[in-house]
Parts: sequence; C-alpha cells; structure tokens
Amino acid sequence: MIQLYIPLNFLGVIYREIKQSLTDLDKMFVLMEKEREVRDAPGAQPLSLLPLPPGEGRGEGGGVDSTIRFEDVSFAYEPDRPILKHVSFEIPAGKTVAVVGPSGSGKSTLARLLYRFYDVQQGRITIGGQDIREVQQSSVRRAIGIVPQDTVLFNDTVEYNIAYGRPGATREEVEGAARAARIHDFIAATPRGYETTVGERGLKLSGGEKQRVAIARTLLKNPPIVIFDEATSALDSANERAIQSELRSAAQDKTTLVIAHRLSTVVDAHEILVLEAGVIVERGTHAELLAKQGRYAQMWALQKSEATPLM
Ligand code: ATP
Repeated sequence: MIQLYIPLNFLGVIYREIKQSLTDLDKMFVLMEKEREVRDAPGAQPLSLLPLPPGEGRGEGGGVDSTIRFEDVSFAYEPDRPILKHVSFEIPAGKTVAVVGPSGSGKSTLARLLYRFYDVQQGRITIGGQDIREVQQSSVRRAIGIVPQDTVLFNDTVEYNIAYGRPGATREEVEGAARAARIHDFIAATPRGYETTVGERGLKLSGGEKQRVAIARTLLKNPPIVIFDEATSALDSANERAIQSELRSAAQDKTTLVIAHRLSTVVDAHEILVLEAGVIVERGTHAELLAKQGRYAQMWALQKSEATPLM
C-alpha cells in the first residue's frame, strides 16, 4: 500500500505543477484520473465545430467555427478570494485576442479556464456556441494547442516530444513541423538527430529551444484554437524576436488567446484586453487603446522607454 501511495503522491505534485504551468499533457490526466477536478456531464458529447459559412473561413478548408466566448465569467480558486470578476469577451474564429495586465491579475487563469482545468463559478465559456462544461473534456483539449511559458519535455527522444502533439505522426511530418518551428537544424546537428533523448536526463534545451519544440508540437497537432503563454524571461530579446514569426505561423488562421508580456505581440491583435485584479479595465485595438491615453498607453510608453516586459 505504501509503495503505491508514494508514487501516486509524487505524481500529484508533478500534476499540480504542470496544471499551474499550463502544459497540455493530456497523458497526465489519464495517469491522474483521480485528481481531476472537473468531470464530464453524464452523456456528454464531443465538441462539434461546424464549418464556417462560405466566405468567412480562411486558410485550408475554409475553417471551422471555433469562436470562443467568455460570458460574464467569475472565478475564485478559494471561496473568499475572487480572481476573475464578470469577464466577457469574444475571440471570433481565426482571430487573436491578447490579454495584458499586472502579475497576478488573472491572465493565466483565463487560459486555465478555457482549457477546463477548472469550471467557472458564474457565467459560461463557449466554443463554437457550446458550453465547455457540457461537452467531453478530452474533445475540448484536442481542439486546443498550448505553447506554454516553460515547456515540459519528456525524458524521451526529440521525435517523441514533437510527435506528442499528434501521436502516430510520421517522421516526415515531425520533421516538417520542426522545420517550420526552426528547430530542425539544431536537431539535425546533434549526433543522434531525432533519436536524441531530451529532458532532465538527456540533452538540456534552452528556453527558446524548448519553446520551439512546443511550437512544433502545436503545428503538428494543428488545432483550431491556440493559447500562447508568452515567456517573461526565458528568452533574451534577440531570441524573442526570432521566435515571433514562428509563433505567428502557428497562430495563422487559428482562434488565438495570447497572454502577452511584450507589446510587439499584441499590436496586431483583433482586441487587446487590459486586466487588473480580475476586471477588464480597458479593451480595444492597439490604436484605439493608445488614443485613449489610459492604462495601456502608459504601459506602452513605459515599455518603449525601458524596454521592459509588459506585465
Ligand atoms: P503572471 O503574469 O504573474 O503570470 P497572471 O495574471 O497570469 O500572473 P494568474 O496566474 O491568473 O495571474 O493568478 C491570478 C491570481 O490567482 C494570483 O493571485 C494567484 O496567486 C492566484 N492563483 C493562481 N493559481 C492558484 C491556485 N491554484 N490556487 C489558489 N490561488 C491561485
């Protein structure tokens, strides 16, 4: 009994860390079945994303309606400490919404709720018009790719770590995704190439390299929805700039939620939300928010002058 208890308890610790760092390790959920806080409603069906009306879809195949809506969402991890208060916004299919705001304002919580790590306590979140509490949780997670701040790699080959985005992918497909994420040359230069073991017990990758693996994973998974939790400090600014174009290609035609720390990422967003203490205090496009001369304009001025991350 004790032997069983220790490893499970250990996995619980890993699970909590992973959940906190927003990593899409569905495998962990299978392992940690008992730890799940949210469960499928009896008879829940998979999320069903309908094709967009003709003319509205972009990219290959016209796209599906993966519009995301947060409708009057309130949430607290602990009963007496509200984290999100009456948050409403929409990400139309194929568009990008960026969230900015001080540390602790609830940005990552929005992403955790969308991935359904937790259920909202008030309001609802819909994807393609379906309340995510009413469909199979696994189908919600299949529809979402996450590029987290700090990617957790398995102690396994590079190929496995990339193919994790779509089990059963061929070597050619893995290589294609790695090329698009500009990590192929780095992998090819290692003695064992795609067979190289990475992770804590293998080849250590830098923050930028890990993020590229996460991008390759997401490209391979090709989900209709993408969440980017932008790194605050993992990358130096040269690397940061270099990775922007790969991030953009992974988000191309996807319904995208960006938790942004750098202004360069947000300028093209369909809408920018400024979150403070769980409340959206300003919203609009980059140009609209600059014209408002409010919180966002202040952050912009500060970041320009100090070249500091937009927190
Ligand atoms: P940062 O920019 O620093 O990543 P954030 O805006 O993403 O911050 P969140 O991670 O969403 O902030 O956290 C919002 C608040 O919720 C914080 O005060 C945090 O302490 C609290 N919080 C986060 N996770 C939990 C948890 N699992 N249990 C209790 N409180 C939590």
